[in-house]
Amino acid sequence: MILPIVKYGHPVLRQRGKRIETVTPQIRELAASMLETMRAANGVGLAAPQVGESLMLLVVDVSEAERPSSMQIAGQDVDVAAHMPLVLVNPLLSEPSGEEIGGEGCLSFPGISADITRAEAITVTATDLDGQSLRFRCSGLLARAIQHEVDHLHGVLFTDRMDSATKVSLSGALKRLQKETQAALGPARKRGLRGLMAARG
Ligand code: ZN
Repeated sequence: MILPIVKYGHPVLRQRGKRIETVTPQIRELAASMLETMRAANGVGLAAPQVGESLMLLVVDVSEAERPSSMQIAGQDVDVAAHMPLVLVNPLLSEPSGEEIGGEGCLSFPGISADITRAEAITVTATDLDGQSLRFRCSGLLARAIQHEVDHLHGVLFTDRMDSATKVSLSGALKRLQKETQAALGPARKRGLRGLMAARG
């Protein structure tokens, strides 16, 4: 199911996601919907808070991307495409190395992109939907996408990592987006409440 993507200005984007203790059928269904939503929006990554779920869950797929990625498991290079898509439950990042500036966008910030500095390579530890542990090292676009999505799980947005000149140049667009999101939140909440009352009545 394609889910609505939460935009900048929605409070859920600033919340820290809850750790997932058990992968329930609902979590599997959410992950499948997140993959479908990400693909429909031509994104390479999506975090649960971006669909309004404050949980430590993200999906990534860089197999269609032009920018290169690399992935190592137990020190051996593996075929990135063969490991896509990735569904990461409770991901943790470690051993950051190098620094790379690269262009980034975000599905919660339509039309906005900027250069962001990230670690060039990172080690990712997580579990998959079967409860199996995953551990791999990655670089390139895959490392960038995972760092971006893990930030979402901690309430951190790519605007927080922009340099001040970029932030100044985007401030008008960011304010407009924030206002639009907050204006849309009011009526949606009221509609939700009316729906609930009608169902009860
Ligand atoms: Zn994002």
